[in-house]
Amino acid sequence: MCGIFGVWGVKEASSLIYRGLFALQHRGQESAGIVASDGKTLRLHRGMGLVANTFTKDDIGRLKGSSGIGHVRYSTAGLSRIEEAQPLLISCSEGEQIAIAHNGNILNSGNLKGRLEREGSIFQTISDSEVILHRIARAKTRDFISNLISSISLLKGGYSLLFLLKDKMVALRDPFGFRPLSIGKRGKSIFIASETSAFDLVGAKYIRDVEPGEIVIIDKSGLTSIFYVQPSPQEHLTTKSYLIGDYELPYPIRKSYCIFEHIYFARPDSLVFSEGVYSVRKMLGRKLGAENRVSADMVISVPYSGTIAAMGYAEETDMPYELGLVRNNYIGRTFINPEHSMREAGVSIKLNPVVDIIAGKRIVVIDDSIVRGTTSRKIIGMIRRAGAKEIHLRISSPPVRHPCYYGIDTPTEKELIASKKSLSNIRDFIGVDSLEYLSLEGMLSCVKNPRDYCTACFSGDYPIL
Ligand code: SF4
Repeated sequence: MCGIFGVWGVKEASSLIYRGLFALQHRGQESAGIVASDGKTLRLHRGMGLVANTFTKDDIGRLKGSSGIGHVRYSTAGLSRIEEAQPLLISCSEGEQIAIAHNGNILNSGNLKGRLEREGSIFQTISDSEVILHRIARAKTRDFISNLISSISLLKGGYSLLFLLKDKMVALRDPFGFRPLSIGKRGKSIFIASETSAFDLVGAKYIRDVEPGEIVIIDKSGLTSIFYVQPSPQEHLTTKSYLIGDYELPYPIRKSYCIFEHIYFARPDSLVFSEGVYSVRKMLGRKLGAENRVSADMVISVPYSGTIAAMGYAEETDMPYELGLVRNNYIGRTFINPEHSMREAGVSIKLNPVVDIIAGKRIVVIDDSIVRGTTSRKIIGMIRRAGAKEIHLRISSPPVRHPCYYGIDTPTEKELIASKKSLSNIRDFIGVDSLEYLSLEGMLSCVKNPRDYCTACFSGDYPIL
C-alpha cells in the first residue's frame, strides 16, 4: 500500500505535493519522496520515515518547478531502504528524465526483470516499479505514450501509476482498477491523488476517477485521455479477449476495485472508487448489527479503523456507543508496520482501555478485520483486565482467509488465522465470549456496484493470478 500525488500547473509544485503527502501519510510511513520539474530539469528528494521528517524547508525550496509527483511508501515488495524509496528517477539514453510513482504490486515482475537483465539491464533497486522504467527506457519509439503502452502490455497485477517528464505528467490505472486514483482541479491546475482527501489540503476539487485501463496525459494543452485496453477483434463467443497495444492478454478482465480500501485503508474523509468511505464504513457497521445482534450494555470500537463501523452498529442495534479504548495518536498503524517486532510493541503502547467505562459491563467490540489474530488477542486481553463482564467481538468484514497479491501486504495464507482455524477456535484464541463476522453478501451490499469489487482475500476469487 502506498500513496501517490501529482500536481500540474501551479506556482510551487513541491510545497503542494508536501501537503498532499501529509494527507496520504496513512498509506505508507516507511519513506517519502518528491520529484519536481521546472520544465527543463527534474529534481528528486526522498528519505526514510514520515513526510514531516523527510523534507526540510530548504529541500522543498530546491525542488523548483510548476509540476511534480510525490510518493509515500509502505513496502509490499522490496526492502525497506532508501534505494527503494519513490519516486524513482532515471535518465534515458538520449538524456530524457522520467520519474515514476507507483501504488500496487506487479505479479510477474520477477520474470520481466529476469528477461531485462538477460538483455543487459542493470537494476538499482529490487522494486517492481523499476521494471516498468526499464521497459520504457528500452522501448523503440520516441513517443512516450506508445512506449508506455508497449511497456505495460506484459504487466500482470495491480498498479496505479504516476509519471513525470519535463513536459508532461501521466497517470494510469491497471485494467482491473485494483487501486484508486482520482483527478482534482483548482482553476487550471490539475492534481492526481490516491485519495481525494489530499485534494482538500491543496484547495482542489475532485473531478472524477482515472478509470481502469485509462491513461490520463496532462501537458501544456490541458488534459487528454486514452483507453489503452481494447476488446480484441478476434473476441470469441465465451470469453472476451483484450489487447494492450498489439499484445493480446491471455486472461479476461473485470473491474476489481479493492474493497479493503473501504473497510480499512482509506481515510473516512476520502472518496475512493467515487464512493464516500465514511458512508460505506458506517453501512458495514449497520449491516453487521443487522446480521449479528447481541445483548450488551455498550458498543466500543478499536480506534480508529473500527470507529465508524461501531457507530453504525450502535445505531442499528440501539445501543450506546462509548469511547472504551483511547488511542495514542503519535503511534502509527500497527498493521502497516512491516517489522513484526515493532507491530507487537506497537499494540501495547498504542491503545489504553477506559476502566471506569468498561469495568463490570457487557461490551460489544467492533473491529474492521482480523488478520493474524495476535493484535486482537492483545486488545481483548486489555479490555478483560479492565474488568469487562462479557466481551463480544464483531468484525465489519468477512474472515480474511487468503493473501492479497495486488498491493496490500497481507501475510501468507499460513499466517492468516481464519485460513487455519474455525470460528470457535478463533474465538477461544482471541479470548472473547462470542465472535461474529459480517457476511460476504452483507459486505457487498454496502457498496454501490458490488460486481465491480475484488473480494479475493475473503472469497479466494482472484481476478488475476
Ligand atoms: S485481495 Fe483483498 S486486499 Fe487485495 S485487492 Fe482484493 S480486496 Fe483488496
